[in-house]
Amino acid sequence: MQGKIELMMGPMRSNKTAELLRRCEMRRQYASQYVMVLKPSDDTKGGPGIVESRNPNGHSKMHALEFNSTNPWEVLAAIEQKEQEIGKRVECLAIDEGQFVTDLFQFTRSLLDAGHDVLVAGLDRDFRAMPFGEMLNLSWLVNAYGGSITECMAYCSCGARALYSQRLIDGKPAHYDCPIKVPGDAYEPRCAEHFVLPGRPH
Ligand SMILES: [Zn+2]
Repeated sequence: MQGKIELMMGPMRSNKTAELLRRCEMRRQYASQYVMVLKPSDDTKGGPGIVESRNPNGHSKMHALEFNSTNPWEVLAAIEQKEQEIGKRVECLAIDEGQFVTDLFQFTRSLLDAGHDVLVAGLDRDFRAMPFGEMLNLSWLVNAYGGSITECMAYCSCGARALYSQRLIDGKPAHYDCPIKVPGDAYEPRCAEHFVLPGRPH
């Protein structure tokens, strides 16, 4: 039987990771499922092997299997090994920061085909408000395999709903041409009115 997919998308500070970890905890506690949390190597928050929410309240961290963001396929051997070790199926895989994962669509689909439920949390858009990685492609898998999409909500400091992740470098809005992955830069959720993107060509 095929697995189902639960997708959690939204801008920075929309509690995606906290929501992912909450669902992992529920599956472990109430459904007695074995849930393996996966952390792409480009995720710089939390320590090594730890998925951590930026929100200090509630469930904030969980042990995770760290893998190379450019090669998620290396995880398949680890799943097989874990299943032999525990003597049963790994019912659920939970991927945080899915936008960083190469081959995310195909990797997720192959996990679903193999009968695992898959939870994926991540940014739907980068700091230029462009689709980030393959996150948006996963919505098709929700249609094909069943499951749900949760749009995680964030708010601008003005009180409006924030759909944008405002990137700040030294406190100033980042230029359109900045590289997408730079560790240690800062982000704020912003509404359309307060989102600023210098150098935007269109
Ligand atoms: Zn605003």
